[in-house]
Amino acid sequence: GRQFFVGGNFKMNGNTKSLSAIAERLSSSDLDDTVEVVVAPPASYLALLSAKLSAKENVNVSAQNVHEAEKGAFTGEISCSMAQDCGARYAILGHSERRHVFGESNEQIGTKTKSVLAAGLVVIACIGEKAEDRKSGNTMNVCVEQLTAFKENINDWSKVVIAYEPVWAIGTGEVATPEIAQETHSQIRTWLSENVGSEVAASTRIIYGGSVNGKNCKDLSLQPDIDGFLVGGASLKPEFVDIINCTR
Ligand code: 13P
Repeated sequence: GRQFFVGGNFKMNGNTKSLSAIAERLSSSDLDDTVEVVVAPPASYLALLSAKLSAKENVNVSAQNVHEAEKGAFTGEISCSMAQDCGARYAILGHSERRHVFGESNEQIGTKTKSVLAAGLVVIACIGEKAEDRKSGNTMNVCVEQLTAFKENINDWSKVVIAYEPVWAIGTGEVATPEIAQETHSQIRTWLSENVGSEVAASTRIIYGGSVNGKNCKDLSLQPDIDGFLVGGASLKPEFVDIINCTR
């Protein structure tokens, strides 16, 4: 089976005090140790979080984004090896906000994917359609374009988690229903099977993101193709522990 995966994307939130409190809450909580837990703080707090969570074997740290180059004149950016040096074992790529607020293209995200895998980090590969795409029946067209850009740069699918995050559900409180999320997750798995291979399709985690909270997580988790979550707002709150433990 696929190990359940719960990620917390803190986005640009928190400070030393509040993020230390989150790390302490995770450290002192009874977390389901069959679940792979990853938290993605702002880059400036990667080292702090990884130090504070070092005793928790199943809880690791992720970058929210990285630059594709190893080093150089890229003011404001961090490289894979820098994130790693600060304790990151994962990198989120292609998050909706990187695509739609910062204008990252599928091509750029593909290049980053290559760098992240070459560095030995796990990619949390984000895809998802906008409301207008869903309304016009283009959900899978958009997702397949995004998946293809990742696929062209992936040589080892055991180092990849796919995060399906419909843009209309992110930060809106409008969570996808379990049925809608399941339908798209299943289509993504079918795409993997047809375009990568049946073993990769069976073993790759496809996690859901977009307004997940302590109340709606259980029903989503019961769907056969939902293998975990990428949580934004609720990952900063005590209910993140309930989300981690929702399959118990
Ligand atoms: P919310 O959980 O705040 O909707 O954010 C989801 C997300 O973007 C996680 O990456």
